[in-house]
Amino acid sequence: MFTFQVEAPGLKLGIDSQHELLDALLAWGLPVEPHHTRVDGLAAAHTAIAKLQTLLPTLDYGADGVAVKVDNRSLYAELGTIGNREPRWAVARKFEPEVQVTRLLEIRINVGRTGALNPYAVLEPVEIGGVTVSNATLHNAELIAAKDIREGDWVEVTRAGEVIPQILGPVKEKRTGATKPFKMPERCPTCGSPVEHPPDEAMSYCPNISCPSRILESIVHFAGRSAMDIRGLGYERVRALLDAKLIDNVADLYELTPVQLLTLEGFAEKSAQQLVEAIVDSKQQPLSAVLFGLGIRHVGQQGAKLLARHFGTMDALAKAGAEEVGAVRGIGPAIGEAVVGFFKDARNKDLLKSLAKSGLTLKETATATGPRPLADQTFVVTGTLPTLSRQQARDLIEGAGGHVSDSLSKKTTALVVGADPGSKLEKAKALGVEQIDEAELLRRANRKP
Ligand SMILES: [Zn+2]
Repeated sequence: MFTFQVEAPGLKLGIDSQHELLDALLAWGLPVEPHHTRVDGLAAAHTAIAKLQTLLPTLDYGADGVAVKVDNRSLYAELGTIGNREPRWAVARKFEPEVQVTRLLEIRINVGRTGALNPYAVLEPVEIGGVTVSNATLHNAELIAAKDIREGDWVEVTRAGEVIPQILGPVKEKRTGATKPFKMPERCPTCGSPVEHPPDEAMSYCPNISCPSRILESIVHFAGRSAMDIRGLGYERVRALLDAKLIDNVADLYELTPVQLLTLEGFAEKSAQQLVEAIVDSKQQPLSAVLFGLGIRHVGQQGAKLLARHFGTMDALAKAGAEEVGAVRGIGPAIGEAVVGFFKDARNKDLLKSLAKSGLTLKETATATGPRPLADQTFVVTGTLPTLSRQQARDLIEGAGGHVSDSLSKKTTALVVGADPGSKLEKAKALGVEQIDEAELLRRANRKP
């Protein structure tokens, strides 16, 4: 890591310039990127950036750009921040991304857990920015057609600050022989079901919910960090468990024993024990994690949290009607229908019964039973709060039964104002919405500062 900034809310740091701050960090024994330099004016900054770009191949870490900052820190408050996000005293100057040309060997399809057919490119391996790239996403059939990307083409590939490599387009002059435009398959490449193509969507779908690809993806999703957080249960192991017929669905995970795992390749006594323990531990995950993990259509992480907080238990949610679910603040009728549809399905009912029998919590323990001092109140946050991050402020408000919105209206209970507030402060004044600070928010939520 390299350090470059000190956040000391409410404290005087006694360091007035960015350059001196970096020197101080270094003097304190913290790692600081050694190529930083102080320059006079924009022209000198451009020269310095050009010089840094020539260093790129020699660095022992990856870099996609340079940050240019105003040196005088006392000007930061005065310069302010645009829309809470872009400070006027700092700018990221991105380098041109590295582009390489390689051969697109084949376009393959991955079927996701929703059944979406995701095309991707298998490339002749090529090195981009020190990483060997052999796959790239192709998003959907429309994009492939628009760029006229064909199997056998030479293509321009970049990583452009993204983790997933992208294909910019084909090099048509290099196209030889009889290539033909790509066509999305009419049948699912995994299970052979006829593919559905909703007229208002760019994606095609395999409609078979028992499609092996969909099952694999949905179990990996269930085990993922944002859901049940079962460590050590990734693609390879889920595939092995499915192939060995040790599991058919997520509920079967909770029946697995170390002895069964030992029959699979790649497991030793310790790793088998560890995986079973991780699965058992996941039973303590709150209802919101289970709801997100089940992959109910339209229910994302945030939606799962809202539902779990409102209903408190899986039973209460399962009994609710579409209207009641849709009326939960932040949910809406489309999600309401999807949720109720999920609970009506006989297979899902069986699955939920098995999960309950396995001893999963299926409760939102943290908040369902606690006091809700901010119930039915809506807050908007602007600027940098002294101690809470945006996510912490959101968790605090929602944990106390309140609601967080991005936009102000007359119905907003209060605007929570931090340092460098954006235009929202003016708007709140115009609308007559009350303005409070972090300390007041904590007081109202019955939390100690
Ligand atoms: Zn399929």
